[in-house]
Amino acid sequence: MGQRSSRAQPASSAEETAANRAEALRQKWVRDQRELLVQTMRFSQVDRPCPKCKKMQRAEEFETHLVCCLTKPALEFNTDVLEADQGECIICYEDLMAGQCIARLPCLCIFHEECLKDWFKVKEECPSHPESDE
Ligand SMILES: [Zn+2]
Ligand SMILES: [Zn+2]
Ligand SMILES: [Zn+2]
Repeated sequence: MGQRSSRAQPASSAEETAANRAEALRQKWVRDQRELLVQTMRFSQVDRPCPKCKKMQRAEEFETHLVCCLTKPALEFNTDVLEADQGECIICYEDLMAGQCIARLPCLCIFHEECLKDWFKVKEECPSHPESDE
């Protein structure tokens, strides 16, 4: 007596909710994956800049370029203290003066050391001699 089955059993309803939630999550995951795949495919067909050198790459060459670019040795520079004035630093447009710390690239261009370090954060190439793929 008094045992009524109309009452929902807490255990099974909690399980059901968990199962529903899991299923909803799974469906969302599948949707997300599909969306991501579509985006990736669409993305891989458009030209876009290389994240390393920022140069625009054609879609079909992007991956090849990226591999080359990421494995390319970094551009090295020597640092030095200038012994005589050397004209303008083309990064900051101020004069390179005797006694200042400068950086010299393999192409023999010189810049203030700090200027070149800042420049390299954006582009690792000589400001006067940008590499060109053309
Ligand atoms: Zn690159
Ligand atoms: Zn400078
Ligand atoms: Zn140079």
